[in-house]
Amino acid sequence: MEFSLIKTCSITGLFLYFLIGKLCLMCVWPTKIEEKQFFFVISLYVVHLITYIIVNAFYFICYESKSKYISQAKIEQKPWPWDGKDSKVWNQMKSLFWKNVFINQFIMIGVAYGSSCIKLDTRFDQSFPTVFEISWQILVFGVIEDVLFYFSHRLLHTPYFYGKVHKVHHIYNITVSWSAEFAHPLEYILGNLIPVIAGPILLGSQTHMITILVFVGLATHKTLSDHSGFNFVWDVYQYLPLTTHSEFHSKHHSLNTGNYSSTFTYLDDLLGTTIKK
Ligand SMILES: [Zn+2]
Ligand SMILES: [Zn+2]
Repeated sequence: MEFSLIKTCSITGLFLYFLIGKLCLMCVWPTKIEEKQFFFVISLYVVHLITYIIVNAFYFICYESKSKYISQAKIEQKPWPWDGKDSKVWNQMKSLFWKNVFINQFIMIGVAYGSSCIKLDTRFDQSFPTVFEISWQILVFGVIEDVLFYFSHRLLHTPYFYGKVHKVHHIYNITVSWSAEFAHPLEYILGNLIPVIAGPILLGSQTHMITILVFVGLATHKTLSDHSGFNFVWDVYQYLPLTTHSEFHSKHHSLNTGNYSSTFTYLDDLLGTTIKK
């Protein structure tokens, strides 16, 4: 009974996020947008940044917390990176992280600008999307993102690309939220940015910019949540059918193989790469 209540609240929360996200953006939406390309790039950047800061701040509190409830939600029994390594190694990892964050800002702006040069038919006007439109389009974006992520991730696990590129992301064999986007620039472009932006660009005029921004907020939250190292009871992804969640990706980091998908589990199932235990 308790389980179904949490599940219902959690799934309702997802649709509430669509509704509240849309209403908040509608409140600040300009009546006329002259520079669509500039607006596209800056709004994507800002929504990603705000989500990244808020979600990481939440998990930072969880890592600092001594609460038994929070520690019970920890997936792996291994120590957190700052507990399990000597302080010199952890300081090096922190310094690498900040350099990575700095570089990623420019890469993100570059990819958003580049994709908008290829095609930008997105609606920016007052024809705001309904929650139904946001829901089905986010599902389509998620499917496209997942297919591109899965195959690029499989490529990154081939010996050449693993050693040269993907090894950077796998420095974290126990993940923490901010390790989600800690990656070699090539991986960040190929595995993180292009899969997320591909769906919105392909749907063209069928989609409104508000839907894209709601999706970017959700995708940023999902990757941070999947890398958080926690499986909280309110995590909606564990209740949605065929959807990956933090335990799924945590196993991938722990074993360095299998569970390659980012959003749905069916490709791993069909192609025999799901981690069974
Ligand atoms: Zn990997
Ligand atoms: Zn990862």
